[in-house]
Amino acid sequence: MRCPFCGDNETKVIDSRLVAEGSQVRRRRECQREECRERFTTFEAPELVMPRLIKNNGSRQPFDEDKLRSGLLRALEKRPVSIETIEATVDRIKHELRATGERELPTQVVGELVMDALRELDDVAYVRFASVYRSFQDVNEFREEIERLDKNR
Ligand SMILES: [Zn+2]
Repeated sequence: MRCPFCGDNETKVIDSRLVAEGSQVRRRRECQREECRERFTTFEAPELVMPRLIKNNGSRQPFDEDKLRSGLLRALEKRPVSIETIEATVDRIKHELRATGERELPTQVVGELVMDALRELDDVAYVRFASVYRSFQDVNEFREEIERLDKNR
């Protein structure tokens, strides 16, 4: 890492310790340039930002947790799935999005994760969501999806 005092690239870590209950690493560094020898501190923490979403038209928007939740709630309306399960699903999808390590992702990735989650939770909710999300081209396509679900049961 470059020395903030003289700009030299040769700096050495002289101390390293966990701080903030283990969620950060604090490092003391020393510039190796003879005339400088300044010391400075860096902090390292995992980057846990949600990726931004790229819409079909190329525009970017921040990830919207409420939108994800309301999409799930709409699909699961009057279905035998508890609110705890829905919240756990929201958390899991957020975790999977962060775990990609990407700063930007196409919105389809979220849609596919929701479909995967609903497929496991509730067939009716899955078909509801998929029919809107995939906007099935025609009735046959819709029927095929339902038949596929029946077969997997
Ligand atoms: Zn220096």
